[in-house]
Amino acid sequence: MSDIQSKKTQSRLGKHAVVIGGSIAGLLTARVLSDYFDTVTIFDSDTPPEQVGPRKGVPQGNHIHTLMPGGTSVIRKYFPKIHDDLIAAGAEYGDPMLDWRVYFGGRWTPRVASGLESYMMSRPLLEAMVRKHTLALANVELRVATPVAGLVSNESKTVVTGVTLRKTGETIDADFVADVSGRGSQSSTWLEQLGFAAPASVMVGVDVGYVTFLVEEPAGYQRDWSMIYTTQDIPNSTRGGGIFCIEEGRWMVTAQGYHKDHAPTDWPDFLAYLKDHRFPDIYETVKDLQPLGEAKKYGYATYLRRRYETLPKFPEQYVVLGDAICSLNPIYGQGMTVASKEAEYLDVCLRKCVENDSIEGFALPFFKGAAKFVDAAWDAITVEDFRYPQTRGKRPMGYRLAKWLNGKFMDLSGYDKPFAIAFFKVISLAEPPKSILTFKYLLKAAVAKKTVCKQSPAANILVTGDSKGGGEA
Ligand SMILES: Cc1cc2nc3c(=O)[nH]c(=O)nc-3n(C[C@H](O)[C@H](O)[C@H](O)COP(=O)(O)OP(=O)(O)OC[C@H]3O[C@@H](n4cnc5c(N)ncnc54)[C@H](O)[C@@H]3O)c2cc1C
Repeated sequence: MSDIQSKKTQSRLGKHAVVIGGSIAGLLTARVLSDYFDTVTIFDSDTPPEQVGPRKGVPQGNHIHTLMPGGTSVIRKYFPKIHDDLIAAGAEYGDPMLDWRVYFGGRWTPRVASGLESYMMSRPLLEAMVRKHTLALANVELRVATPVAGLVSNESKTVVTGVTLRKTGETIDADFVADVSGRGSQSSTWLEQLGFAAPASVMVGVDVGYVTFLVEEPAGYQRDWSMIYTTQDIPNSTRGGGIFCIEEGRWMVTAQGYHKDHAPTDWPDFLAYLKDHRFPDIYETVKDLQPLGEAKKYGYATYLRRRYETLPKFPEQYVVLGDAICSLNPIYGQGMTVASKEAEYLDVCLRKCVENDSIEGFALPFFKGAAKFVDAAWDAITVEDFRYPQTRGKRPMGYRLAKWLNGKFMDLSGYDKPFAIAFFKVISLAEPPKSILTFKYLLKAAVAKKTVCKQSPAANILVTGDSKGGGEA
């Protein structure tokens, strides 16, 4: 009997699972593991605030965070009661294709009923609610201010048997350990310490900078949107930004610049930066308002992907998820959704282990499956970002064809509403890329007309609830 099998006791896969990192991906991972292990302990180096608000361990929480429909459905599946809490706390809920005014890829996304769902809220609110519902599970606990220092293994260093805590040096035994500690994950070092190879890293340099202010929504303001997002006209412009309606009647106003063209942090200059957008809708909406405080900044130089799926071998009882696998360019708003899909896939893989009555050899098939979600996001965004000549890194194989096809898909989705919905489903990870790689859509895309946007559709938005409405310019 192997080390792994001998640990299986009365529960389905083991007694105790440890999760390193209690952010969105870590909490979802703990939720999934709670179905397979008697107890789950999450260790986080940080201490979440009592009230909903940003925290040190997740500094990106000061900035806009879109939860894409692919992630929304996973979160609602694992926390069926979270919806009511989010709404009660002030999140806005709706169909993103109707409620989000998005200029992306050189065209305004048509505003049509898609049947998809999402929320608009601050990142700290989402995390607080996911944390509340995870910790409501009787077998999950969170130990705050408790950084994990490393892994513990069996004598032959083939099976991870626990973790050590940085502050006390204490060893915590575990039948399964998940590293969900974000981009700064130490797994590469830990693997090497056990005699395993570290995963190869792929980086793409974009030098993105976020500057964010909060403003109060003017009293009585009439709007039919929960988000305005105008992304860069790549490669001609490096400037984009958004307004997100968040709880407590506030707007989160962000300017995002590529390749070091970052917005200033004083309000008048920030406004001038926003005005210098091809469609200055954000500027027009906030120009007469005053910020609620100082600007928050965040610099994001490179995306980083660690290719766990290509490793030849991996320790037993150990896995890595979330930004620790791949930290994506945040402009496209996919990180939490990719992490959610990975957590859902973890569930699929663990269920198979129960059926097979063994968790031996768990990790590599998991990484291969999880890579499909990362690929879906990575391929969709690198194809755009490499259109800037300044973007650093290795272009994906078949880049020219992918760029041509993506451009055609963008054009088609500017006026073909059924395709726009299908395309958005792929971008938002609600459907896999193959769902649009059909003969019908490829043929339509090949002859797609160039979308020419002359004006913002703000003035003539139709929110009809059917696919006849739209906001093409
Ligand atoms: C500016 C910005 C904007 C973004 N916008 C979006 C968006 O619009 N939509 C979207 O989906 N995603 C967005 N993202 C990405 C998103 O924030 C992440 O994908 C998401 O937080 C999931 O990450 P995670 O849980 O894997 O890691 P993180 O959120 O980084 O959390 C890691 C956790 O691990 C803890 N930790 C670290 N080391 C240790 C240790 N040794 N021991 C114990 N605990 C540890 C940390 O305290 C933290 O709680 C954005 C990111 C940035 C930077």
